[in-house]
Amino acid sequence: MKISNNSVVSLTYDLSVLDENGEKSHVETAGSDNPMVFLYGASGLPDKFEEHLNGLEEGATFSFSLESEEGYGDYDENALVSIPKNVFEVDGAIPDGMLEPGNFIPMADSEGNQMQGQVVDVNDQEVQMDFNHPLAGRTMHFDGKVVSVREATKEELAHGHVHGEHGHHH
Ligand SMILES: [Zn+2]
Repeated sequence: MKISNNSVVSLTYDLSVLDENGEKSHVETAGSDNPMVFLYGASGLPDKFEEHLNGLEEGATFSFSLESEEGYGDYDENALVSIPKNVFEVDGAIPDGMLEPGNFIPMADSEGNQMQGQVVDVNDQEVQMDFNHPLAGRTMHFDGKVVSVREATKEELAHGHVHGEHGHHH
């Protein structure tokens, strides 16, 4: 079957980012032992990513690029914020190794929305955190292969996610 809305899709891919000269640098690989499995049309992945896969069948290969505006948007300087160090304390102390630059820390904003921040810099009082998506402002390039396509079950559609191997277990 072809990939369309409500397909459960399994992919392997290599993700690279392209610099201004079109030079690729490798970001991550989803190989056959850890394929990416998602519910097409309800994945939360960039729309353009899904569009490039529309209609492909098992065994098809793909190679496409997404500009930052088709992916995770432009890099936003306002998403770089300084946060008082004591916010990170757990029982009055900052856990060892938590505030290393480069670390990702799950946080919530004042409305309770979950967001992932990356530690950029730390001084005596403050921690500079970057809440941009790590791929914001980047042109992404995907090379990959469709491992399998199947119809989602009623239960998967009701839950909005994939069950079974590489999916949710509950
Ligand atoms: Zn479920």
